[in-house]
Amino acid sequence: MADIIKMMSDALANQIAAGEVIQRPASVVKELVENSVDAGATKITVNIKDAGRTLIQVTDNGCGMSENDARMSFERHATSKINTADDLFCIYTKGFRGEALASIAAVAEVELKTRREEDVMGTDIIINGANFVSQTPCNTPKGTNFAVKSLFFNVPARRKFLKANSTELQHIITEFQRVVLTHPQIEFSLYHNDNILYQLPKANLKQRIISVFGKSLNSELIPVEIDTSIVKITGFTGKPSTSKKKSDKQFFFVNNRFMKNSYFNKAIALAYDKLVLPDCVPAYFLYFDIDPHTIDVNIHPTKTEINFENASDIFRLLQAGIRETLSKSDVAPSIDFDNDFDSEEVPYFSKDIPAPQAPQVNYNPFYNPFEHESNTIARHNAENWEKLYNPQEDTQVLTQSYTSNQQTMLGEGFAQNSAEQKLIQIKNKYIISPVKSGLMVIDQSRAHYRILYEKYISAISENADGVQTLLYPETINIDTQTFAMAYDIREELASVGFDIEYSENILTIIGIPPFLNSNNAIDILKDIIDSYKNENTSILSSIKETLAKTIARRESIPYGKPLAQQEMQNLIDNLFASSSPNYSPDGKPAVVIMQMDEIDKKFI
Ligand code: ADP
Ligand code: MG
Repeated sequence: MADIIKMMSDALANQIAAGEVIQRPASVVKELVENSVDAGATKITVNIKDAGRTLIQVTDNGCGMSENDARMSFERHATSKINTADDLFCIYTKGFRGEALASIAAVAEVELKTRREEDVMGTDIIINGANFVSQTPCNTPKGTNFAVKSLFFNVPARRKFLKANSTELQHIITEFQRVVLTHPQIEFSLYHNDNILYQLPKANLKQRIISVFGKSLNSELIPVEIDTSIVKITGFTGKPSTSKKKSDKQFFFVNNRFMKNSYFNKAIALAYDKLVLPDCVPAYFLYFDIDPHTIDVNIHPTKTEINFENASDIFRLLQAGIRETLSKSDVAPSIDFDNDFDSEEVPYFSKDIPAPQAPQVNYNPFYNPFEHESNTIARHNAENWEKLYNPQEDTQVLTQSYTSNQQTMLGEGFAQNSAEQKLIQIKNKYIISPVKSGLMVIDQSRAHYRILYEKYISAISENADGVQTLLYPETINIDTQTFAMAYDIREELASVGFDIEYSENILTIIGIPPFLNSNNAIDILKDIIDSYKNENTSILSSIKETLAKTIARRESIPYGKPLAQQEMQNLIDNLFASSSPNYSPDGKPAVVIMQMDEIDKKFI
C-alpha cells in the first residue's frame, strides 16, 4: 500500500488558521485598524468597496515598517508586541498573537506600502493567497497602507458564507465603532464605495460618542464614575429616554478593548428596572479599568468574550453603581436606589479595602511560547523567505529530506505529488492530519456539532417569525415541575416557533419551528425544557442558542461511526468555514494541535 501521509503546506495551514481570525470582511477591518492604532497613528482612513469583497484599504500615519519588518510582518507568530510569557497575561495592546497579517495574506490579495519617518524610500510588497509576488522600493507617505483585495478568492466555502452586502457592511461598521469609541484622540474616517460614512475628528469621549451616534444623544448622556478596588468603571450611561428595543448602543470595554458580556448587560437592565419598558435597553458606553491578572481574555478566539475572576462582585457593583448614578442625576428616585442597595448583601468595595489576592499563576519564566516559531523565522533569511509562501517548493523541500534519510522506511509512495490531503480516523473518534507545526487532531463529534450548530443558528434567524403548523396537534403529559419550567419559558419557546397550549401538566403542541422535522420535534422540545430545568442552560443564554445546540447535539456524528475519506474532508472543510472551528458550541476543544516540539520531547 502506498504511504499516505503528506505534509500540509504553509499556505493550507495558514488558510485553516485564517478561518479562526478572519471570518468576514469586518474581521480584516478590525485587525488592520487595530494594528494602525498600535502603530501610534493619529489619523486612520478606512476605504471599503462592495462591503469588503472587492477592497478593504486601511491607511495610517503611524510608525511604518522597515523593509525587513514589512516582510516579516506576514509571518505567522511574527509580532513586535510580545516578548515574555508574562506579557501574555497583561495585554494592553490590541492584537498580540501575530496571526492577523499571515491569516489575511493567506486568503486574499494583499498590497502593503509602508515607510518609516527616517527612511527616504518606502517599500511595496504584494502577496497573493500567501504566495509572495514582489517587493519593490516605492514613494509613499510616512505610515502604512494596506490594500486587501478579493477576500476569500481561494476559499470558496468561506466566500459562500458571506451574507448580503448590507449585512457585511453592518458588521464592518460595528467593528469600526468599537475601535473609534476607544480612541477618541485619533482621527478616523470610513468610506464605502466612495461615499463617506463617518468622518470623526480628534475629540474627547463624549464628543466622539455624539459624532458616531448623532447629536440627539448630546443631552442624554450621564457621566459614570464607579471607583472600587476591584474595578474602575467610567464612561456614560443614557437617560431612560435613550432606551430602545434594538440593542445597538450598548458597549462595554475592558482595558480599552471591546467586550461582549450578556451577564453584565443584565446588571444594567436591573439598574434601569421600572425606568424603561420591559425589553428595552438604554444606551451605555462603559469602560472598565481592571487588573489584567484578574481576567482571562483568551477564552474566545476573537477575544470579545472575557472571563472575570470577580464576575459576581462586578455584577453587583455595576448594578448598584449605575442605579446610584441615575438617582444622583434625578433620573431615578433615590429612595428606590437605597432600597435596592440595602437589600444587596455584598459589600460595596471601596478603594481603601485591598483587592482580593489574585491566585498565583505558576509558569516557567524562561518559557517563550513563540520561541520555536521565532527561530524558524530567523532561519529563513531574506533570500529564502519567499519559499515560505510557495507551497509547492516547500513540500518538495520536506519530501526530499525525508526520502533521502528514510526512503526504505517510508517507501516510494511518499514523494508522490498529490495535492489532496489524506486523513486518518482513529478509534472512529478522532481525525488526524499532519500540519506544518505538528499533528492536528479533530474530535469528529464536536466538529460536527459546531457545524450543525451554526447551520441551525442561521436557520432560526432566517425563520424568525415562522411556525410550521402540525397536521395533528400532539399532547404531552408532564410532571408539575417540568410543566412549570415550560410555562416559565413560554415566550422564548413561542419566539422560535413552538406554538403550545398550556393546561394543567399537559402541553398541546400546535406548531413547531419550520425547519424541524415533526418526527423528533417533541423530543427536542422536551430536551430544551430539561436543559433549562437541570440548569444546564443559564437563563442568560438565549433560546435560539439552546434550540440550535439541542438539535445539533442530537444530529451530530457520534463517536464510533466510521467515516469515509470524503466525509472527513467535508467535515474539515465545513468546520474551518465556521466561525469558531476550535471549539464546540459548549466551549470544549474541537481541534487540538500537538506541536512538533511536544512530539519530539516524547522521543528523548
Ligand atoms: P500582531 O498585531 O498580533 O503583532 P499582526 O499580524 O497583526 O500581529 O501584525 C504583525 C506585526 O506587523 C505587528 O506586530 C507590527 O510590528 C507590524 N504591523 C502591522 N501593521 C502595522 C502598521 N499599520 N504599522 C506598523 N506596523 C505594523
Ligand atoms: Mg494585529
